[in-house]
Amino acid sequence: MTEPVEHRRLIVAGTGAAGLTAAIYAARSNNDPLVLEGDEPGGQLTLTSEVENFPGFPEGLSGPDLINNMKEQAERFGTELKHGIVADIDDSERPFRVELSNGDVYTCDAFIAASGASARTLGVPGEDELMGYGVSTCATCDGAFFRGEDMLVVGGGDAAMEEAHFLTKFADTVYIAHRREEFRAEDYWIDRVQKKVDEGEIEIMRNTELLEMHGSPEDGVDHVTLAQNDEGHPSEKLDDDGTETFDFDVGAVFIAIGHTPNTEYLEDTGVELDDTGYIQTHGGTGGDQTATDVDGIFGAGDVVDYHYQQAVTAAGMGCKAAIDADEYLESEAEAAADTESEAAAEADD
Ligand code: NAP
Repeated sequence: MTEPVEHRRLIVAGTGAAGLTAAIYAARSNNDPLVLEGDEPGGQLTLTSEVENFPGFPEGLSGPDLINNMKEQAERFGTELKHGIVADIDDSERPFRVELSNGDVYTCDAFIAASGASARTLGVPGEDELMGYGVSTCATCDGAFFRGEDMLVVGGGDAAMEEAHFLTKFADTVYIAHRREEFRAEDYWIDRVQKKVDEGEIEIMRNTELLEMHGSPEDGVDHVTLAQNDEGHPSEKLDDDGTETFDFDVGAVFIAIGHTPNTEYLEDTGVELDDTGYIQTHGGTGGDQTATDVDGIFGAGDVVDYHYQQAVTAAGMGCKAAIDADEYLESEAEAAADTESEAAAEADD
């Protein structure tokens, strides 16, 4: 068995708003947190150009600035940050064994999962090759690179509507391809997009799916192949008479079809995950809201929350997780002290 690199009282996985807020609180409670920063340091916020709804910043600030401020604040109170992707947790023994993808093993008394969620992709030909070269999962990060181009947004939720609306700043025309007739997005976003449709800046392609992306890393996206069927979900009906497949010229593609929580490393533990991988925490109104089914493992941010998904709600959950972890660590320490004094008393008798 691999020797642990180090034992820590508390490990936090993730450096988004949830993980860093947990770190600030945990460091201030003397829990000496080690925070593991994965492949998307700073999480979703670093993909956001302007954050105007995080309380305390009346003029707004950029997502990366907000994350850097949180990091500085966490480090000021003694948090240690390290790059590391959690590959596995062994919850069959205490302390927990936390194995990283590079093979390093740490042990810890408590663990906060705040490893966020990653953008989903379509899995169609051309997507991997052109990702970063005209295909993107983040309009706020990449939209400005394609100024003056026609752009395609795939998806029908709030994110797709928000991205399409944002991209009108740069695009010649923004097209939204949604796989069925009805949008999933809330009326607020549908109404805002409709206004842009009326102004001729957005065109909506309902019952339409993207089958393939064409282009090269050198020259970017040239065109895409789409399928349309009035009954929806055309990619499942390619042989139907009602399905039309056609090529369509665009200079950039933005995929906004939701996120997948980064929780694979919890699959073999006692932590309950729902069908899509979100951590089931105890919730409720009292303490221990961020507790999972494994004592000592807590969940916060986008690994738990598929509904609010806001920086401030993630930060709030991170705070709760640090407080819950602190209470757990205190009660474990008290229980250990009681056992020790009972053993000492027995030895004296
Ligand atoms: P979402 O609500 O899950 O919507 C995903 C959309 O992508 C759906 O319309 C879905 O189609 C479509 N889709 C999924 N897989 C697809 C595939 N393989 N091919 C084609 N289309 C596919 O995800 P989201 O828009 O990222 O939003 C997630 C959460 O964040 C929501 O709670 C949302 O309210 C919130 N959010 C809020 C804001 C805001 O208010 N500022 C902005 C962004 C996100 P179907 O509808 O057919 O399933």
